[in-house]
Amino acid sequence: MKENSVDVGDLIDDYCPRCRLLLSHDVAAIVEGEVKKVRCRTCLNEHPYRRGKGRRKEKDDIKSLWDQVLSKMPKPPKKQ
Ligand SMILES: [Zn+2]
Repeated sequence: MKENSVDVGDLIDDYCPRCRLLLSHDVAAIVEGEVKKVRCRTCLNEHPYRRGKGRRKEKDDIKSLWDQVLSKMPKPPKKQ
């Protein structure tokens, strides 16, 4: 038996894009047992559930920074 512990109206933590904080949310919609939408209890903004992750961009920034560093590094001389 599959345990379905989350229900509409349940309290869940998620990142609110409006408050820009990890806050308590109400579950607003569940699709196939997965939380799809949540509503911030602080500003009542409804948004897709982000699984607590709101800063995916940060990772991309770090990656592009690395690319910049690597592109500036001199290429190692070829050994012959
Ligand atoms: Zn909010």
